[in-house]
Amino acid sequence: MISTAKDKPLFTPGPLTTSRTVKQAMQRDLGSRDFEFVELVKDIRRRLPALGGVASPEYEAILMQGSGTFSVEAVLSTALPPGGKLLAIANGAYGQRIIQIARAHKIDIVALTYPEDRQPALADIDETLSKDASITHVAVVHSETTTGLINPIEAIGALVKRKHHRRFIVDAMSSFGGVPINLAEGDIDFIVSSANKCIEGVPGFGFIIARREALLECEGRARTVSLDMLAQWKGLESNGQFRFTPPTHALLAFHQALDELDGEGGVAGRAKRYRANYGALMAGMRPLGFREYLRPADQGYIIVSFRYPDHPDFNFDRFYTRLNDKGFVIYPGKVSNADCFRIGCIGRIFPADVRALLAAIHETKDEMGF
Ligand SMILES: *Cc1c(COP(=O)(O)O)cnc(C)c1O
Repeated sequence: MISTAKDKPLFTPGPLTTSRTVKQAMQRDLGSRDFEFVELVKDIRRRLPALGGVASPEYEAILMQGSGTFSVEAVLSTALPPGGKLLAIANGAYGQRIIQIARAHKIDIVALTYPEDRQPALADIDETLSKDASITHVAVVHSETTTGLINPIEAIGALVKRKHHRRFIVDAMSSFGGVPINLAEGDIDFIVSSANKCIEGVPGFGFIIARREALLECEGRARTVSLDMLAQWKGLESNGQFRFTPPTHALLAFHQALDELDGEGGVAGRAKRYRANYGALMAGMRPLGFREYLRPADQGYIIVSFRYPDHPDFNFDRFYTRLNDKGFVIYPGKVSNADCFRIGCIGRIFPADVRALLAAIHETKDEMGF
């Protein structure tokens, strides 16, 4: 039996806390060929590029079933031509996932990897592209959810596109909709995000916003059927339908989530709330003795990795369980070279929720005696 009590707020990287009205929007059963549903999908596809500061027909939105990784895999496995080569820039687990996907598809790859607390060096990227003319595409994560680090996509895009004329792929899963991004200014050909991060929908699909010219170039390149990004776009364009069963309920929720994002003042308004959440978090955690993993200059406001307190009485599992019992869900760390846990600032949470979490952390700290 599932409890009907109010769910605990999620201070995680996703799935996230969503509004009651977003959840209520799913209380319907629409057929996939239903006129209303087809119009809803069309409206979502029209509105998504605008969140990245661009519009059709220069840019096109493609919705893809599955979690966010499926959409990253769709781009990589559809965009890279036979004989093409990917430069992957990685400073965290999600950058590593890009490398893993490329390898699985036997895509020729050169990887520039950095420690998780370091920005990629622009000079390395410039040099690699200067030396290797066979690199056709470059991929990087914007908000590295492993740590919360924000990679300088505009500076990287300027090198990749304006100087070296290669295709530029950005995994902006945990930032799109919550951090202002302009695809045209950032010289981005393909950007990927998912329904259940900063747009605050429910899980079920991801999306790609593609420069039309870069998308049309992908003819004949797809390495899979279900993740064929170009075929998916053609299907959506021709009759407004998905090629295979669409996540109808998740799309209904997402449409409502887009309305609520607009109601909050768009990406700028949402960014303001997330920044306020982050500000409240840092203002409370530092006095409690917690130290963040990253240097402040590299830290974004999406999610923060905190180092385990250096005290024999700190134990993450017990810390997590006690916070959970008090009604707050935080997240384990993912950094490979330091013991950390993470607290997310995104989803339908407000500074007051963050302050309630901080009070619970203070109480737990006293109970555990660290
Ligand atoms: C959440 C996330 C993904 C996708 O994760 P899924 O579990 O497949 O939804 C990819 N990249 C980044 C940076 C993320 O934060």
